[in-house]
Amino acid sequence: MNYNKKTVTDIDVKGKKVLCRCDFNVPQDKQTGVITDDKRIRAALPTLQYLLDQGAAVIACSHLGKPKGEVKPALTLAPVAKRLEELLGRPVIFAADAVGPDAQAKAAALKGGEILLLENLRFDKGEEKNDPAFAKALADLAGADGVYVSDAFGTVHRAHASTAGVADYLPAVSGFLIQKELDIIGGALASPKRPLVAILGGSKVSSKIGVINNLLEIADTIIIGGGMAYTFSAAQGGKIGDSLLEADWEDYANEMVKKAAEKGVKLLLPVDTVIADAFAPDANSQVVPAGEVPDGWQGLDIGPKTIELYSAAVADAGTVIWNGPMGVFEFPAFAKGTEAVAEALSKTDAITIVGGGDSAAAVEQLGYADKMTHISTGGGASLEFMEGKALPGVVCLLDK
Ligand code: ADP
Ligand code: MG
Repeated sequence: MNYNKKTVTDIDVKGKKVLCRCDFNVPQDKQTGVITDDKRIRAALPTLQYLLDQGAAVIACSHLGKPKGEVKPALTLAPVAKRLEELLGRPVIFAADAVGPDAQAKAAALKGGEILLLENLRFDKGEEKNDPAFAKALADLAGADGVYVSDAFGTVHRAHASTAGVADYLPAVSGFLIQKELDIIGGALASPKRPLVAILGGSKVSSKIGVINNLLEIADTIIIGGGMAYTFSAAQGGKIGDSLLEADWEDYANEMVKKAAEKGVKLLLPVDTVIADAFAPDANSQVVPAGEVPDGWQGLDIGPKTIELYSAAVADAGTVIWNGPMGVFEFPAFAKGTEAVAEALSKTDAITIVGGGDSAAAVEQLGYADKMTHISTGGGASLEFMEGKALPGVVCLLDK
């Protein structure tokens, strides 16, 4: 995939209508509908503010939740329009539909420096189906000399009408959010500052196959932690007690170890592990060497020797890509490994990139968010990016 895509600063938007796909899929209180975290709305501000400052008439749009093509009043974007208005400090006009008469009338009347937010795109079946008629209707709102700006990184791995289809009808460029993801993650994958160290954890080997395969081709060192490490351990004949095991993936694990050796990629596996007598925050725990987990016990974190080994590998890296927690970080007693890796990343001079929903949450929860070069804003999208897949929402943008 070519990561070198045109961005908002590469195209003239002055006096034009700009359809801007944002990620306003914010968490809300189930009872009251109150937005409980407006991070995603704040993340969209730089692009929206830039467009408005340039004198563009901005037609913002997004999905919210999973209405599955039906109008679900609880999933209206109206509360987002209100919050956006507060954050931008200027009026946000809200359309009661996405491409219907209200949106059409309000888009037609929209002037430079004004912003309109369309109703939830997924109220229409055409959105997720990438229906060309729906994509064209969206594009038509921006008119003949309209521009499409894509800034919803969280959905670039989906070929929907507003994330990909619309680019057939309007010149398409990235916003600042997507540009940063492409520059940093794309840069790390295409021409990393070496050595490139990839830290892979999380619960399952099976959900990370694509990432492991792709990074084996690129990285100098691969570090394995988290639940998936026990499948590697079992595959090598270790005793893992009741630790997480995907028996079907043992052969794959062995193959990966072999492949890494053939390619000269250093593959690091845990040398010790913190085990617990139950999957619980207050379980009894002790440290044992990897592969020596007694029956009735399960590994929930990497051990102190492993922490030392992994921290040292990160210290002189040029780039670190991290996906997947080292242990069950949701339990404070088993968060040490994840925290130590976050700390090691915060201290190295390397470019540090965190991808994956739970990994990003862990880094934020442990207080290391502002110490990373980049925390990807898209969980699933960042995983597919690291798998080396072509992302439809990126492919459709104009090449530089
Ligand atoms: P990401 O969302 O960053 O891609 P994953 O979804 O793959 O990460 O994995 C995150 C989950 O893995 C966390 O909920 C964590 O508790 C779990 N996990 C990590 N280590 C273990 C372990 N040893 N046993 C069970 N679950 C684990
Ligand atoms: Mg996850």
